[in-house]
Amino acid sequence: MSDSGRSGSGQGRSSRGGQRGSGAGGSGAGNSGTGGSGAGGSDQRRGGGGASRRNAQGRERNRGPQRSFTESAPSQRTRRADPARLVAFEVLRAVAAEDAYANLVLPARIRQHGLDRRDAGFATELSYGALRNQGTYDAILARCVDRALDKLDPAVLDALRIGVHQLVAMRVPAHAALDQTVGLARAVIGAGPSALINAVLRKVAARSLDEWLDELVAGEQDETKVASIRYAHPEWIVRALRQSLVAHGRPVGEINDLLEADNAAPVVNLVALPGLGSLDEALENGAVPGELVEGSALSSGGDLGRLESVRSGTTRVQDVGSQLVARALAAASLEAGQNTTREAWLDLCAGPGGKAALLAALAKERGATLLANEPAPHRAKLVSQALSAVPSEVWTVRTGDGREVGSERPASFDRVLVDVPCSGLGALRRRPESRWRRTPKDLADLGPLQRELLNSALAAVRPGGVVAYVTCSPHPAETTAVVSDALRKRDDLELLDAGSVLDAVSLGSGLGAGHEKTAQLWPHVHSTDAMFLALIRRKR
Ligand code: SAM
Repeated sequence: MSDSGRSGSGQGRSSRGGQRGSGAGGSGAGNSGTGGSGAGGSDQRRGGGGASRRNAQGRERNRGPQRSFTESAPSQRTRRADPARLVAFEVLRAVAAEDAYANLVLPARIRQHGLDRRDAGFATELSYGALRNQGTYDAILARCVDRALDKLDPAVLDALRIGVHQLVAMRVPAHAALDQTVGLARAVIGAGPSALINAVLRKVAARSLDEWLDELVAGEQDETKVASIRYAHPEWIVRALRQSLVAHGRPVGEINDLLEADNAAPVVNLVALPGLGSLDEALENGAVPGELVEGSALSSGGDLGRLESVRSGTTRVQDVGSQLVARALAAASLEAGQNTTREAWLDLCAGPGGKAALLAALAKERGATLLANEPAPHRAKLVSQALSAVPSEVWTVRTGDGREVGSERPASFDRVLVDVPCSGLGALRRRPESRWRRTPKDLADLGPLQRELLNSALAAVRPGGVVAYVTCSPHPAETTAVVSDALRKRDDLELLDAGSVLDAVSLGSGLGAGHEKTAQLWPHVHSTDAMFLALIRRKR
């Protein structure tokens, strides 16, 4: 390992949301989309607390004149691919060439290459960091390559991105970052590009990340462009998130904090299914009790799959924001109706089943039942798996289009969750590649489906019952606009105060106050995904 430049280097001093803790190698247990994300995040961006010391160290280490590189020609150097870097490279390739999701590919490749825990952590940091910061790294590379980046072989570009992340954001000595990246390229791409990769990375290594950022934004007056470069988000997302802050009544000046929070890997949250699970085992193994919601804990990282309570599905990986909105639906007050002795609950868009599992456990405690609907068969299977920890008489899975449930089962349910497909702008920290994949068109395309699903939910709920409209996005086009449209078209609906219901189910207070009576959670404020909640009651 010493020749790969990783001995004692830990997992990076990334100012770009470095991974800490379990890494993808560890948590095979989660099935809420968090698998592969390590615990913890970065505090090391410019100006941030403990960052300066590490950045200062990094700057010294990384300054060009003090760096020493191997003097042998690239062609005479190693042809061996270090396994951790190879995994990171394969993840970037799969994301670029096969539209793969990094959080799914990474654990599989780590297993395939048999990486130990430390190498898994390194591969996680390297692949997630290179993907998350792609826009900024490409801007740096564009200054160092003598042709347009889209004229490069895409595999060479991915190797360069991996090299840049090691050089500017990890505690990897420059000579090791260069040698190992050239070695990787020689092993998997061929000898041809090694001179180019070597020359380009030497130029990158001449400056620290802070120096590069200063150079890239020098003279730029447009705040959106500056934030886009500094915080590695596409410009349209910077604008969209700014608009979202304003729409939900938060100061627009929080934008940089929000962008920075997107770059920190989320801490893995656990939930013990009420009445079925216990956090004892997780707490004995280093987890700490969650501060926002009862029955939750923050994982200390490591392989959660080793915990029996996680393997059995009674303790699950779930973002606290998701826990809160599911609990809020269960707690919202209904007006009396025929079903009040045995309530019927519906989860209209249930896949992969995280909220359905929590809802089903709550339903069991209340003597209620849950119908969980999901149209995609493979996702419906995941819902059944997630629900398997709850006795089967409580729940049923329906595989079908949620838009039809309202007309098939009108006025049948007391509580309905409609957690619609959305842009995911509120969960960028979980999916390192998604910010570069999404386009503004996604927002426009999803609008009609979101409205139809909400209408179906409103048809399926009985008079006096409550619908929770939920998105993992704070954008007004998929949150407040969808809810306002529904309220405008009908006079038998009323908005409940979602912020107060969230307060009632949480251990904190003042949670998620948003536009009107809706609620919006934020990564930079609540350390949750940016989950939106509207509670709509159908009047009797
Ligand atoms: N509630 C889920 C959880 O906590 O695990 C997450 C739901 S996810 C945001 C949205 C889900 O809606 C996806 O599984 C997607 O397949 C599903 N979906 C897409 N089109 C749908 C439709 N027409 N009817 C119902 N669900 C749909």
